[in-house]
Amino acid sequence: MKKHNYSAGPCILPQEVFEKASQAVLNFNNSGLSILEISHRSKDFVAVMEEARTLALELLGLENKGYQALFLQGGASMEFLRIPFNLLKENGKASYLDSGTWASGAIKEAKAFGETVVVASSKEENYNHIPKNFEIPTDADYFHCTSNNTIFGTQIKSLPETNVPVVCDMSSDIFSRQLDFSKFDLIYAGAQKNMGPAGVTLVVVKEELLGKTGRAIPSILDYEKHIKAESMYNTPPVFAVYTSLLTMQWLKNLGGISAIEKINNTKAELLYAEIDRNPLFKGSASIEDRSNMNATFLLNDASHAETFDKMWKEAGISGLPGHRSVGGYRASMYNALPLESVQVLVDVMKELEVTIS
Ligand SMILES: *Cc1c(COP(=O)(O)O)cnc(C)c1O
Repeated sequence: MKKHNYSAGPCILPQEVFEKASQAVLNFNNSGLSILEISHRSKDFVAVMEEARTLALELLGLENKGYQALFLQGGASMEFLRIPFNLLKENGKASYLDSGTWASGAIKEAKAFGETVVVASSKEENYNHIPKNFEIPTDADYFHCTSNNTIFGTQIKSLPETNVPVVCDMSSDIFSRQLDFSKFDLIYAGAQKNMGPAGVTLVVVKEELLGKTGRAIPSILDYEKHIKAESMYNTPPVFAVYTSLLTMQWLKNLGGISAIEKINNTKAELLYAEIDRNPLFKGSASIEDRSNMNATFLLNDASHAETFDKMWKEAGISGLPGHRSVGGYRASMYNALPLESVQVLVDVMKELEVTIS
């Protein structure tokens, strides 16, 4: 039986995508060949890459607006490094918002590279909220933020207004909610949270931002080189790109980001309502910053954990334990998680209340 998969990443993808991807492993496009054994320069794969790049921009509403989409390797963590290499000018400075473990990982790489200002941090409170009312230096080369903090279950609801280019790590909420994506100059996302399997990262960058650092950039780190090579500077991770394309096609057929956003809102409202109603549980993140993708919550009395854990496992739920730095539970409700799975979890939480009392 298929599990209700709440894993934070790698994570659930649409069943239809699993089926099409496995078909392509056996016989890609009826070519008599597996997608795993053809050249990345073959006509069939070049078409996959082109469509994936175009569709990513289309879903974000960024076609013909000066942006380029790339599918790169090294995970979101590699972009922590590529970003300063491409955007931090000689004698310039970068600015970062420290809203979680991944944000702080990005800051570490920037600091190793050049002057880096942290505009605000919620580290002291174990990242249970998004810092607000900070100032972004007007002379910064860019401002970096993390739209959704996967580990702590917080999500930026309104972006700061700034004249500085905005760079955003959207690894765990890409394609999940409608934003004015043209307010961002660079968006990146490791595929394995909401877009595809591990092994590929989507980078969407405004081309006019590039080529201005006054420094030499190692080729593999240079976004301009990847753009020039149409995202095939070296062998791309063909299967991860193809599976990401299938997921984007699934989303497009569903009605795109605005359609999935409605479903995501319904799922999040259902679960948070139960967390708030049920006297056995409490949410871990500040209410106004709660993530619609990763809901973090705790049992008020940890001695009920054994009973609760047994119950949700028996209900066919998988991947619910929280990250080790937060504890408790984390329900990751990515695009592909059906509403029914959330109902199953809510029912188990209600059942626990009845069992305990
Ligand atoms: C998972 C995650 C990362 C790290 O991704 P890798 O692909 O493993 O490098 C970075 N940022 C966020 C927000 C994440 O959720």
